[in-house]
Amino acid sequence: MVDRLVNSEANARRIEGVEGCFGSSGQPLAVQGRVLVGEGVLTKMCRKKPKARQFFLFNDILVYGNIIINKKKYNKQHVIPLEEVKLESLEDDGQFRNGWLIRTASKSFAVFAATSTEKHEWMAHIEKCIEDLLRKSGKKAAEEHAAVWVPDSEAHVCMHCKRNQFTVLNRRHHCRKCGAVVCGPCSNKKFLLPNQASKPLRVCLNCYDTLSKAKAQNNQNNLNSKNDPRDKGCLAESSCEDDTDDDEDNLNNRPDYQSPDQPKFYGSANADVGNDQYSK
Ligand SMILES: [Zn+2]
Ligand SMILES: [Zn+2]
Repeated sequence: MVDRLVNSEANARRIEGVEGCFGSSGQPLAVQGRVLVGEGVLTKMCRKKPKARQFFLFNDILVYGNIIINKKKYNKQHVIPLEEVKLESLEDDGQFRNGWLIRTASKSFAVFAATSTEKHEWMAHIEKCIEDLLRKSGKKAAEEHAAVWVPDSEAHVCMHCKRNQFTVLNRRHHCRKCGAVVCGPCSNKKFLLPNQASKPLRVCLNCYDTLSKAKAQNNQNNLNSKNDPRDKGCLAESSCEDDTDDDEDNLNNRPDYQSPDQPKFYGSANADVGNDQYSK
């Protein structure tokens, strides 16, 4: 069980190792009660194309970053609180195999493992961590999740007006509510999405209509009951990025990079055996 690793020297050493690999580009990860449950390389679907990313699963957060030197140096650290995470398995589709969605309130994306065994291991470990975390903390799972962005390559014309063709000059934009790829005129309005940012974000005209109507409806209801449980304010972590996605390539990070290593999970009886599931 993962609990046995709390306060263990091996766990402290591993977390220190992860901190070291991110260096000053990452945040401190050693926190009382935190356990590194597993690590490995997954292919993350980014705006332009799939890219290799190093993932670290802790018992309370999921961390990932760009690989500069395998097992030595990572940057662009992202930290996702697990109580926000919801997984959704993806069907295999052509070259996109062994994938699932990682959905959170502020950001959602697809990742792919090298084999179906690895996929099931990752998903089982993440699900178990979420379950344990929610049980222990008494927190409730997030109900709202950000849309998964449609990759640029899947849309040659605007998904809203279906007329405007994308070119170098006619740029693609992503609706922050539904994730569709739309043209400028079809996304010239902004709406406040408190789960994602403190300032209004670009949305498509469809979503603008829907959101505006819902808001009007809500205001009406609020005349009677004033508490809006959905008002959670802005998240601490910045997701207020502009249209460019933050997953820029590093020079050494070849897009076709494939790690020969299998993911490692430490929660099993013998830390050297990665394939065991948690034993109760
Ligand atoms: Zn359009
Ligand atoms: Zn939309």
